[in-house]
Amino acid sequence: MPLTDKFGRPITDLRVSVTDRCNFRCVYCRSANPETHMPVGELLEWEEYERLVRLLLGLGIRKVRVTGGEPMARPGVEDFIARLKALGVADLSMTTNGYLLAERCDRLVAAGISRINISLDSLNREKFERMTRTKTFDRVLAGIDAAQASRLRPVKVNAVLVQGINDDEIEAFARFARERDLIMRFIEFMPLDADRAWTRDTVVTGAEVYRRISALWPLVPVCHERSETARKYRFADGRGEIGLISPVSQPFCGHCSRLRLTADGKLRTCLFSKEDHDLRSLLRHGASDGEISREICSIVAQKEKGHGINEPGFRPPSRTMVSIGG
Ligand code: SAM
Ligand code: SF4
Repeated sequence: MPLTDKFGRPITDLRVSVTDRCNFRCVYCRSANPETHMPVGELLEWEEYERLVRLLLGLGIRKVRVTGGEPMARPGVEDFIARLKALGVADLSMTTNGYLLAERCDRLVAAGISRINISLDSLNREKFERMTRTKTFDRVLAGIDAAQASRLRPVKVNAVLVQGINDDEIEAFARFARERDLIMRFIEFMPLDADRAWTRDTVVTGAEVYRRISALWPLVPVCHERSETARKYRFADGRGEIGLISPVSQPFCGHCSRLRLTADGKLRTCLFSKEDHDLRSLLRHGASDGEISREICSIVAQKEKGHGINEPGFRPPSRTMVSIGG
């Protein structure tokens, strides 16, 4: 019997955050100011993650995405992926900023990862450096090269668009997708940034992205699973694809199939959940597999109907993206 919430949504996807630390400070995610991190002892050990994922697979999870913070920044992540593969995860993927990918892509592939998403928020070196607050443009491009040269498919490149910063690059990103034959995904900025700078005016909608790209190159819709976050289009006249992820302007909560496990062992039923559920205490206080599985089922039953971003009185959660895991 697959895990199902009280609205009848099958829960099949798990995002596993392996760290809240990151070697980048993207303006839409982290703050330029020093932040506190989870103490190391609060982070789940690999064995603890493995046990929870095993139980969740038993409850019907099929897809696992390893994320963070920056997942490749936690030593041992390749071994963890190999352990997840051995558990029988059908669809095993990672989201990374690409900084460490060129040198470690082969190890990820050998560990059994099947797909990868790489963040790239500007094709302009100076702007990329401003957005990520790093000087890593060449390394990230080399990471994308390494992924494309490997057998990881499809390679998806993610850009979070922020009005007034990188919205002028929509067409350039589309050209990049065509030239590189990859999937370029445009993500709407969500109110999960550490600086709390998000306002509605900073969101570049998926509709705007569609309008501007299709004015240059006709787009053809590509079929997608109902629970997929992206509306996908291919170029009618050539290679490459785009994906529009529009959680603010076109919420997809009605088909949400996701759960999130944070690096400190909290289960979250939504990015915007007001509270999270402590599985680490259960793990560390001798709970049996059956007890933990029952607790997961009762947490899932409480999954909220939607994120509420567009409702009056909306307030962002206290946790920010980097500590939840995107
Ligand atoms: N560090 C990795 C990376 O950047 O790809 C993985 C973790 S990051 C939190 C996962 C995804 O969340 C990235 O695609 C990132 O661009 C996106 N993200 C971060 N903050 C966001 C925000 N406020 N709104 C929308 N997407 C955001
Ligand atoms: Fe780090 Fe990813 Fe957040 Fe950028 S989006 S600061 S790379 S976790």
